[in-house]
Amino acid sequence: MHKRIFWRSLRLLLVVALCLGALATAGAVGRNEVPVRPEAMPVADVPSEETSPAPTQEEIRAAEEEAKAASARQRRASGLLARRGGLTGQQREVLCTRMGADEVLLQRLERGELTRTELTWLGIPNARADRLDRYDAWAAEYPEDSPETTVLQVNLDMDQDFYSLIWETADPASLEVLVNKHYALPAGYVPELEALGKGYGSGSLRPEAAQAFRAMADGARADGVSLRSVSAYRSYKQQNSTYHRYLKQYKQTTVDTFSARPGHSEHQTGLSLDINVASTRAHFENTAAFAWLKEHCAEYGFILRYDKGKEAITGYRFEPWHYRYVGQEIAKTCMDQGISYEEYLSLRPTVN
Ligand SMILES: [Zn+2]
Repeated sequence: MHKRIFWRSLRLLLVVALCLGALATAGAVGRNEVPVRPEAMPVADVPSEETSPAPTQEEIRAAEEEAKAASARQRRASGLLARRGGLTGQQREVLCTRMGADEVLLQRLERGELTRTELTWLGIPNARADRLDRYDAWAAEYPEDSPETTVLQVNLDMDQDFYSLIWETADPASLEVLVNKHYALPAGYVPELEALGKGYGSGSLRPEAAQAFRAMADGARADGVSLRSVSAYRSYKQQNSTYHRYLKQYKQTTVDTFSARPGHSEHQTGLSLDINVASTRAHFENTAAFAWLKEHCAEYGFILRYDKGKEAITGYRFEPWHYRYVGQEIAKTCMDQGISYEEYLSLRPTVN
């Protein structure tokens, strides 16, 4: 796992060094043309040496080969794009990098299949190549939106009603997994779990999250604040029976406002928990524990997952008690910028 990450990082570094050196020294990203909220974009995740074994000769050779191939693809793209008008320097640069990493996209460019509008989308760092039709549809409906806004809105799935188009997440065990009313975990997914243990409240979390929660609760205790889990991991089966129990009492549209459908609860990831309370009536937002969490949760890798003002994006009312483990780096970005996890992922560049 670490080896693979290291290998990928090495390959990326080589690609960057070989192909973007000139652009970088030229001050690649024009200040005026930086897309929406660049401050929210994460720093490259390069693992430390202690956790990554050194790559083998074979891996280094393969990385060099790939870097050369990417560089060649970038040159092909650059030649073709030079003949297309109406693109800014930054768009060209993003397009070249994108085509360098994506042979299929480059072939489409070579066959003249990419329209000018499609090139506009693809020239935005956080655009997703598999959503071009959806960007087109959004732009047709909201012509006043800038291309950057269009890309962000579609990345946030704001063009889809909740539960209307459901994607099953490809990598449920990823610490970055997104689970919401658009993305579901497979029914059979069960994470590795660890009990939170005596003094930390009820339930289990994935080991990384359990450790982080205990550290956070210890930190809070040192400041005179008590944090206890009242609900952590929930299985598909549990979520399924809870949801269906509510369905006997209320209409589905009502149930959907307060209970996640099976597969769609973040508690099924083993990375989320409810702290101290789990009810709006408790007004947890007025407690010292909430104030402490808001200030410190990111230091332990947690985010306040369903914040006030983000309901249209997250699909949930303000839940001051619900926290999600995402790791310190992402947590700091989200909490410092005041952005939801959906926004963080939607703003993240898809080109390296
Ligand atoms: Zn919760």
